[in-house]
Amino acid sequence: MKILLWALFFLSLGFPSYPQIKEALQIRIAAIPNNPRPGEPVTIGLVGGEGNQFQAVLLNAQGQRLTKAAFFNLTADKDGRPVKAAVLAVPCTARGGPAQIQVENGFGSIGNIALTISSRQFISEEIPLDQRNTELRTAADPQKTAESNMLWGILNRTGAEVYGGGPFVPPVTSTRRTSFFGDRRIFRYVDGSSAASIHAGIDYGVPTGTRVHACAPGRVALARSRIVTGNSVILEHLPGVYSLYYHLDQIHVQEGAVVQAGAVLGESGATGLATGPHLHWEIRVSGENTDPDALIARPILDKEAILSIFNSF
Ligand SMILES: [Zn+2]
Repeated sequence: MKILLWALFFLSLGFPSYPQIKEALQIRIAAIPNNPRPGEPVTIGLVGGEGNQFQAVLLNAQGQRLTKAAFFNLTADKDGRPVKAAVLAVPCTARGGPAQIQVENGFGSIGNIALTISSRQFISEEIPLDQRNTELRTAADPQKTAESNMLWGILNRTGAEVYGGGPFVPPVTSTRRTSFFGDRRIFRYVDGSSAASIHAGIDYGVPTGTRVHACAPGRVALARSRIVTGNSVILEHLPGVYSLYYHLDQIHVQEGAVVQAGAVLGESGATGLATGPHLHWEIRVSGENTDPDALIARPILDKEAILSIFNSF
């Protein structure tokens, strides 16, 4: 079964116009899995290639660039060649069908690997908002803009540290979910107007004061109050991979701290835009909202699995 989830691409290219490059460029690319659904992560392994700045780009059948992720150094193969990895997530708005991952360096494409995006249905729901929540969403506020810019500055950053490759564990023991990943939402405002939105994470309906645990080892990238998401914690787990915990009543960690899986980050609550006490748990991979259940089900970065493919050649 594992073999079916793997795809491997091998190519060998020469660069006759660059005589200073003496050896033929040999590149190997692996992608796991090769049939992701919208919202699910794909890990790409890379051996070979000249230069330092590599990125993986997901293209749909029409050649449109859906998302991208930078490669980071992971390990070495049996011949001592560096193995790089990149983690991206299929946008939850992507359509099912053939796709490909293109590997690029600073000069352009150096190889690609085919994928199939499996099709997926999401739930639709309408959420009426009261006066307070309507204002939280609609009122123009420079502080809200500043907080949004800071958040995206964090989520779009690809660091170098590998704290843990998963699998992730849920942040609370409760299995009661009040909203699901990828729900298509209509927010109904007090004046009758509405706005469409996609729910980026999972909501657990737990009482205020429920302990919230780190889903994996990581570094606290943000631990502070925000207007819309209330008391918020963000952990960085891998380069470009973050988990987010919103609407907390209390925060028990400080920015910059390194925590283990299961560490208590705070207590759940209803701060910020919330219609009742709950924990909003979200995963971001290279900026894309990503299905937490996919990261609970399997590691997002399985170093041994990547190596076993490259070492089999
Ligand atoms: Zn939520």
